[in-house]
Amino acid sequence: MISKEHIIKRFISYVTVDTESDPESTSTPSTANQWDLANALAKELISIGMKDVTIDTNAYIMATLPSNVEHEVPTIGFVSHFDTSPDFTGANVKPRVIENYDGKDITLNAEQNVILSPDYFEDLLLYKGQTLIVTDGTTLLGADDKAGITEIVSAMEYLIQNPDIKHGKIRVGFTPDEEIGRGAHKFDVDKFGAAYAYTMDGSQIGELEYENFNAAGAKVTIKGKIVHPGYAKGKMVNSMYIATDFINALPRMETPEHTEDYQGFFHLQDMDGSVDETVLKYIIRDHDKDHFEARKEVMQKLTEDFNAKYEREVVGIEIKDQYFNMREKIEPVMHIVDIAEEAMKQLHIKPLIKPIRGGTDGSQLSYMGLPCPNIFAGGHNFHGRYEYVPVESMIRATEVICKIAELTAEKHR
Ligand SMILES: [Zn+2]
Repeated sequence: MISKEHIIKRFISYVTVDTESDPESTSTPSTANQWDLANALAKELISIGMKDVTIDTNAYIMATLPSNVEHEVPTIGFVSHFDTSPDFTGANVKPRVIENYDGKDITLNAEQNVILSPDYFEDLLLYKGQTLIVTDGTTLLGADDKAGITEIVSAMEYLIQNPDIKHGKIRVGFTPDEEIGRGAHKFDVDKFGAAYAYTMDGSQIGELEYENFNAAGAKVTIKGKIVHPGYAKGKMVNSMYIATDFINALPRMETPEHTEDYQGFFHLQDMDGSVDETVLKYIIRDHDKDHFEARKEVMQKLTEDFNAKYEREVVGIEIKDQYFNMREKIEPVMHIVDIAEEAMKQLHIKPLIKPIRGGTDGSQLSYMGLPCPNIFAGGHNFHGRYEYVPVESMIRATEVICKIAELTAEKHR
């Protein structure tokens, strides 16, 4: 059995180290304090008996659990990230363990009146009677993704202590800077040497994901003409009015607040305007590759139409792809999703397979040659003070990792 106390102790030892990443930094890791946890993790991996433990100059950690079977089994990997989101502070995390949760409001911070309530966060009720780890209401928790690291380390330790469980070679990878979109950037896929891997970075128990958005960013620059307002007739062109027309020419219902599941959108993230110039920043998202391309064309065409109407280049547009749907890379190796699904079913966990309305490091890794679906790590309400994780979900995720390793060896006998 995987001990609850052991999991709690390990998790708390990680979240109490501040590893907030910083999008403004150009170094890797983006913040020096990520080294504190990275170095500790490398030591811990050695101490539990992992082999080939390496930590490179960018703080990427890799380690091996050697096969304990005679027959050939493809090498599988498990990946998570040790940085936390810059959206909310990760310094001085003071986790609190709540035993036998009673399904009522949890006062995170009486002084500041911060309440974690099932009236607002209904998911809490799924965990009545379980052990929750919560914040003190002033920081995030860091279950994203230190729950994932806890589970991977604990699973490796369990497999080492229980050699009767048969498995092939397993690789473990821990990355910095996932929260600022760079976790995969310096991940050495060749060195990792796995046929495929799983990121342990999902939320609710049962989550299994292999589809995410195709993503692009668009910067639209609208040029006006500024003249003295008292003498502007027939001369002034106010870029903010043109920007408004541009915004309204895009389908109003195809926005984040009106879409769900597989529906894509245009999202106006930011606008900054004056008479002379207005800049609009959009993100474009769609699971379907053709629809994604069509959305980019819609914006391109709109730009041309405006320029034709004004008989000058009044609108300029720059569209940049950001990441792509991993589905394309997972479908040819669909058995890796099937094995994860079967592992959950054997453990009586109901698989929740749904498209991600965002991206993961796994999507980038999949395009770098390491197909990489995403599995639940157990936490909820990421990137803020209401973040929490049920300890039971971390234990179940640990069991899923062990079961995937076991099933993979079994299927290749
Ligand atoms: Zn994460």
